[in-house]
Parts: sequence; structure tokens; C-alpha cells
Amino acid sequence: MHNAFFITGTDTDVGKTFVTASLLKAFLDKGHDARAIKPVQTGCELIHGVYQASDILEYKKINANNSFEPAYAFEFPASPHFSAELENTAIDSDVITDYIQGHIEQAEITLIEGAGGLFVPLNGTNTFLDIMKAVRLPVVLVCKNILGMINHTLLSIEMLERSGLTVAALVINGTKPDNGIAQSNIEYLRQRFSGTIIVLPQYAESVSGMIEAADEFHSFVENHTQFFAADEIDLTFDKNHLWHPYTSAISPIKAQPVVFAKENKLHIQNTVLIDGISSWWCMATGFNNERLNKAAQTQMARFSHVMFAGLTHKPAVDLGKKLLEILPEFDRIFYSDSGSVCVEVALKMALQYQHNINKKKTKILTVLGGYHGDTAGAMSVCDPVEGMHFLFKETLAEQIFTPRPPCRFDEEFNPDLCAEYEAAFEEHKDEIAAVIIEPIVQGAGGMWFYHPKFLEFLRNMCDKYGALLIVDEVATGFGRTGKLFAYQYANIVPDIICIGKAITGGFMSFAATLAVQKVVDGISKNGGVFMHGPTFMGNPLACAVAYENICNLQEIDWQKKVKTLETIMKTELAKCKECASVADVRVLGAIGVVEMKEPVNTAALLDFFMEEGVFIRPFEKTIYLMPPFITSRDDCVTLCNAIYKALKLKKY
Ligand code: PMP
Repeated sequence: MHNAFFITGTDTDVGKTFVTASLLKAFLDKGHDARAIKPVQTGCELIHGVYQASDILEYKKINANNSFEPAYAFEFPASPHFSAELENTAIDSDVITDYIQGHIEQAEITLIEGAGGLFVPLNGTNTFLDIMKAVRLPVVLVCKNILGMINHTLLSIEMLERSGLTVAALVINGTKPDNGIAQSNIEYLRQRFSGTIIVLPQYAESVSGMIEAADEFHSFVENHTQFFAADEIDLTFDKNHLWHPYTSAISPIKAQPVVFAKENKLHIQNTVLIDGISSWWCMATGFNNERLNKAAQTQMARFSHVMFAGLTHKPAVDLGKKLLEILPEFDRIFYSDSGSVCVEVALKMALQYQHNINKKKTKILTVLGGYHGDTAGAMSVCDPVEGMHFLFKETLAEQIFTPRPPCRFDEEFNPDLCAEYEAAFEEHKDEIAAVIIEPIVQGAGGMWFYHPKFLEFLRNMCDKYGALLIVDEVATGFGRTGKLFAYQYANIVPDIICIGKAITGGFMSFAATLAVQKVVDGISKNGGVFMHGPTFMGNPLACAVAYENICNLQEIDWQKKVKTLETIMKTELAKCKECASVADVRVLGAIGVVEMKEPVNTAALLDFFMEEGVFIRPFEKTIYLMPPFITSRDDCVTLCNAIYKALKLKKY
């Protein structure tokens, strides 16, 4: 078992090194294989061309063998970013993280001493707190018992806890006996911090001081394992009592315990996986995005929810303006809680529109191979035969189905193929209230990419037969296909659009249905009001995050990122065509698909992909990638290679 603690301070010069060395002694005293390391050391003396790191010399006083070179050592005693700058170099925080992980694997207990406090800068972007968040170790926070320490200490604790870190102990260093202020500081901190507090008297910072201080740490050392229990997940309970999506309750596919996620990496206990499907396509800009976290935290501190009937708020209005900026053809927005619900809302809008303009049209026309969600209305427009809801067919509203969109995205469009669709419109012209379709990419129904001209044909049909055109962009919206919205590949304006999934960058469930003025006017005629109103409609937290997410997307040059992923996947997945079991390989934007001739063994493939260090979850005949846009070239190649290898080794 490898355990480790991160030792940080409320400020520089509070005695971190003294505490680290004393703690090292306490662990060694109790028979543990312990080491102390200092990843970044400034103020080093250059002797015979080698920097002598002063803090490491202190550790050596406790254990002569404890002599590990820092990852970065600099001569000038200042903030690491500045000391590095003076030597014309820069600190790479990934190097520090790797350095720490490397040490942790080599010892039973590793004590990692930071430099200064949480926001001490390493470079232009990262601080020590980023390192602490990346390694996610319990933290020992050291403060000095002087005037003003309460403020710094509480700020540090607050920030550590908000960063999802455990404060294993607060060490109050240098308490002068019989000093009234010092005693009151301790008393006050005991009221405000319920965790372990270790009070060190005013030891001299000498070896004898460290030896004495080590005694104060002995009970902490004896109980240290409690701080590592937080990441443990009761998988037996999960298996026996929690339903997972589309999974057998009796013999479920193993659910992997996620303990942390950042950018495009899923940290499963003891493994890190490269994410290949953006958590069902919603996590477009990666996990644990600081900008989104901050937007949520700020809104949370004001209020996380209020009802939307008779009340409104800034996040809803700001997001609304942002949505109309990127979808200028639309006029009115209905916020809801999930993709399925925003589809229900769209269908109800269409039905209520037709009802209110006195048209007795109550059916929805759609194509086979479609998927629109798991609620009743949405299920009624999913593929009734091949789709996942065929069991409920008898109880759902009966809709009108036509074949899959006829022409591949990358082929020449043949208008003759539209004849049978036109016949369906003609046959049901008095019934069709609306057409609903996933634009360009049919997602959960098999990742089929079809020609934009088919959308233009549908637009013409809707106009001719007085039906509304609903595009379900829940999966395709926010850049996934290479356009901000997939319908923009065609020269059309839909009447209603459904957006969800990536709207909050995957932060939380949220969706919206937008309508053009014609729909709003139809519904509102003769005093009509739209009859829908979920409890969590317009949730302020989700609105604030969605707003920030769209701003972020607009700033990160997503087009370039999506294009790069498209180019890599086109090259790397093409190799899969050489396997006889592959029916088709296709790539559009940040979506890469390998379609097999037969359904695959999802469980076997999941296991294989785990071994390869990637998270890819195939379904039916489809092995696909929808990586977060921020995925690096190397990671994208790794994802593609994992699929190629699975095919070569026949792991399907
Ligand atoms: N529409 C489409 C096109 C989808 O792909 C999905 C989900 N995969 C939904 C609607 C339903 O969204 P949710 O799972 O958020 O209810």
C-alpha cells in the first residue's frame, strides 16, 4: 500500500520543513518505510555545479538516506515562477505531478512538501494548489501561531475543502507558552475546524526540536489510514442495489469506480483511463473544467434554485441572450432538465401549435434509426423496431415512420431517393403535425451520417404540407459534428430545436427547446399558453454553468480542435477497414465510427479497452469515439489504436 500526504502552509516561513521532517521521524519511529520529498526548491546554493536544496538537508538530519533531488531547484529565493524566470526557464506542472507519483510508488509513506502556500505560482497558469488537486492527497496544513494567523488559516482550509481535498491535520506551529493571543488563536480554530489539530510548542528548529515534535505526531501516524478511506466505494452495494442504464440487474457489466476526473482522463481506483466518449457525448470540453466549477460555485453562493413561475433571475436571462446570439433564427426559449424532456417539450409545442391554429393534426413523422430519449413521447418517435424501446411499442402514441435518411453524408445526393418520403407526406398530409429528426447524425440509433440535402428536402415538405420541422440537436449540438449545430450543414431554418447534453459542457443535466416566432404566435393565439412547467425549469445553477460553457466554447477555438480530431480519426481509424468483420468506417467532426457486420460483445470489449487504458463503450454493431474536444493528438491516436488492436486481436 502506498500512502502519501501533502504538506503545505498558510504562508512561507511557518515551519513546513520542520513539520515535514518531524512527521518523517514519527513515521519512521513507528516502523513505516517513509520518505520526504520537496518537488520545487528555491534559494539553493550552487556547490560544484549542483544545487544544494536546504530543506532536503533538514530531512537528512532525520534520515541520512532521505536525499532525493527536487524536480526543480533554483538559486534565487523567491516564488518558484519568478526564480525559474530568472534562470530563463519555466516550471512544467506535469513534470512535478509525475515526479510526485514516481516517488509515491517507491515508498509506503511519502511526505511531499510544497513551497509557500496554496496559491504560490509555479508558472503563468498553475499554482501549487493545482498540483495538490492533481495528486489528490490528504493535506497537512501548517500555520504559525502569530497575530493574523486565523484569517490565513481559515482561508486556506476553506480553499482546500472547496477543491475537494481532505485536510488531514492542521498543525499550529510555534505556540508560545503563557501567550494569551496564541491560546485564543488555538481555541478559536478548534471551534471553526473540526478535524485533527496538532499544536506544537515553540521548538527550536533543530534536530532536537524535530525529535520532540515527532512525539506530537505519533497518534496521527497511528491513525493515518483513515484519511485514505474517502475514496473507497462499496461496489457490492452498487452491484446489488443500484440500477445502471440499460444493464441487467442480475448480472450487470462491472461498473468501474471513478474517484476523480479531469480534462479527458477518468481516474478509476489505481488506473487512469483516456476518455473516448465524453460521458455519452456531453463532456465536450473535458471533466472538471475550472471555469464551469467557478461559475457553479459563484451561483451556488447566491442561490442554487428558485422556481421559474412568477420569478426570474440573471443566469436565465444571460443564458437566453447567449443562446439567441448563437441561434439567431429562434425567438423563444423553454428551459428544461434533460434531453428527453426537451424533446417532450418540442413535441408538445408542435401539437399545441396545430391545435391552436385549428388543424386536427396529431401525429409526428420521423425516420427509422432515430433516437430521441427515454420518456414516453420521446420513445414514440424512436425507432419502433430496432430501437431500445420496442417493448413499449403497444402503449406509445402511434407515429408515422419512414426509412432511414437515404444518402450518406459524403456521397452525391440523389433526389430520386426522396420519392417514397414524399409519398408518406402525401398519404398522411392531414395528420402530420411535425417532423422530428436528428440532423446529419443519427446517434444512438447507429451513428449514421446522412446528406444535408435530405434536411432541405424535409424543410420543403414541411412547408408544403403545413408541418413543423423539429431538429433534435441534443447529441449533435455545440460543435460535435464540425458545425456549431448540425442543421447548419443545410440551408434551412428549423421551426423548433432541441438542445441538451453539451449545453453545460457535461457539468450537469440541462436542456432547452427553442422555437421561431411563428410557433410562439400559433401557441399564443386566442390567449393560449404553453402547457408545460417542470419544477426545476430554468435552474439557476445550470443556467450559470451553461452560459459560462458557451463563452468558454466560443473562446477555445473549438473548430480547430474538432478538425484536428477529425483528421486524426480519419487517418487512424481507416486502418480498421482491413478487418473482414468491419462493415464501414466513417468520421465526421469529433465523431469516429467503426460499424461492425455483427453486434459486438460489449462486456469483453470494455474489459479489453480497460487494459489498454481507454474508456470506450460500444453498442450493438457500433464501436465509436466521441472524445472531448480538448483531447491531445497522442491520446486520440491511443483511442484509435485501441479499437484497431481490439479488432486485430478479435476481442469483439
Ligand atoms: N435526443 C438525442 C438525439 C439523444 O441522443 C439523447 C440521449 N442520448 C436524447 C435526446 C435524450 O437525452 P437525455 O438522455 O438527456 O434525456
